[in-house]
Amino acid sequence: MELKKYKMFINGEWMEPSSGEYFPSYNPATAEPWCYVAKGSSEDVDRAVQAAHQAFLHSEWASMTYTERGRLVRKLGDLIAEKADELAQFESLDNGKLIREMRGQLSYLPEFFYYFAGLADKIHGQTLPIDKKDMFAFTTREPLGVIAAITPWNSPLYLTTLKLAPALVAGNTIVIKPSEVTSASLLELMKLVEEAGFPRGVVNVVTGFGDPVGSTLTSHPLVRRVAFTGGAESARHIVRNTAENFAQLSLELGGKSPNIVFEDANIDNAAMGIIAGIFGASGQSCVAGSRAFLHVDIYDKVLQKLVDRVEKIKVGDPFQSDTEMGPLATEAQLERVKQYVSIGCSGGANLIHGGKPPENLDKGWYFEPTIFEHTDHKSRITQEEIFGPVLSVIPFKDEKEVIELANSTDYALAAGIWVSDIAKAHRVSKAVRAGIVWVNTYRSISPIAPIGGSGLSGYGREGGYEAIHDYTQSKVVWVNTSTEPIPDPFIMR
Ligand code: NAD
Repeated sequence: MELKKYKMFINGEWMEPSSGEYFPSYNPATAEPWCYVAKGSSEDVDRAVQAAHQAFLHSEWASMTYTERGRLVRKLGDLIAEKADELAQFESLDNGKLIREMRGQLSYLPEFFYYFAGLADKIHGQTLPIDKKDMFAFTTREPLGVIAAITPWNSPLYLTTLKLAPALVAGNTIVIKPSEVTSASLLELMKLVEEAGFPRGVVNVVTGFGDPVGSTLTSHPLVRRVAFTGGAESARHIVRNTAENFAQLSLELGGKSPNIVFEDANIDNAAMGIIAGIFGASGQSCVAGSRAFLHVDIYDKVLQKLVDRVEKIKVGDPFQSDTEMGPLATEAQLERVKQYVSIGCSGGANLIHGGKPPENLDKGWYFEPTIFEHTDHKSRITQEEIFGPVLSVIPFKDEKEVIELANSTDYALAAGIWVSDIAKAHRVSKAVRAGIVWVNTYRSISPIAPIGGSGLSGYGREGGYEAIHDYTQSKVVWVNTSTEPIPDPFIMR
């Protein structure tokens, strides 16, 4: 059977890549290609950015009111709601995540479009109580221009939406480069962008690899903001690229997030939270709770609960309704996880569960849920992001010690705290270095709540009310209301 071929979506048209080349996209559950995707070039990027620039300046998009743009974004949300199930299937096929999880994520996605659509007509400036007589001054908020969005493979449409929805309601136009591993769902989404009636060139997709597509896009002179989600290495390239065009930049990168269990916690919930944090999505989550700190008084009990549950985790076909962990998204990711496991073993950590691909699955990029026990918190596997199902369990004696341990990596993205003492919950939430803190829960998301981190986890926030400001800039207008002649022109007024 001939495999499906995805063209790119540029200026409202489905376009062949200028190179004429396509590359395969693999199903991680079988390790076989299931479709082909256009291999974009610098020329294709330029076409897309020029189209977005023209749409920003001259299309009907440019003259629409915020209310009208909000209405279009809401319509796109409605269309996604109708097609959520289908879109979820493309995502599971491409990245191997559980169909259950992707269905949940995709059916919640419209809420992000509705939330930002609701903000569209609340983008306003201020009248300034200016300290000069005969002057009236006010600010407005204007869109920036062409936005470049670059996404990874773990939650393709969710991570795109965090950029696309606020960018559009603010009146920008956008060029999106999805991960070369998971392009299909975004191209399927473009059919809904067409159906919703966005003017040509407002939303564009160029598929292909980091180099040249990502690098040309992020250094393009007409790009005004780059919204990136991915790894630190690519982020470093992008920071250098934006030295060319001075585009604003947000970086949502990785993490080494702590999940801290105090002695008074509800231990059953804590164990579930730790499992959700690291084995959900097979650990391929920026907020993966890859370090579990357990208070010494409850250490053995919680560890036993973890091991008991992890032994029962069903690893396998992500399309089966009872599967709990699917494969890793790429063969390279599987190799990376294997390598970290061998680093852990040779570095003196105690492997207490997993550590290898499951023996009952003969194809696909699967790995067993893996648990290491540590006495030393300085090893590479407790410091570096693995992005796979590998948990480090570490004991602690008191609050001060665990805060120090939790804060002792270069990442600062998320943290989980399992505790009953409300005062302690607040103290530790404040002390822990992270952009997101979950107390007695983990991996909760909402369009209303911002996400983002600091240090090696990047900078900037996505989601929430403030995101809309990142996609606009203020303009101040001064109006001289005096009838008097302008005085001395050689001094500032
Ligand atoms: P990656 O950095 O390899 O790729 C991400 C994107 O960047 C891809 O589209 C890729 O083609 C592109 N890219 C690569 N080199 C580039 C360059 N020189 N210029 C421009 N673009 C370039 O990341 P990945 O392996 O796809 O994803 C895993 C990483 O993403 C992990 O570190 C994970 O923690 C992070 N992540 C972060 C969040 C968050 O919200 N903080 C969410 C999901 C994933």
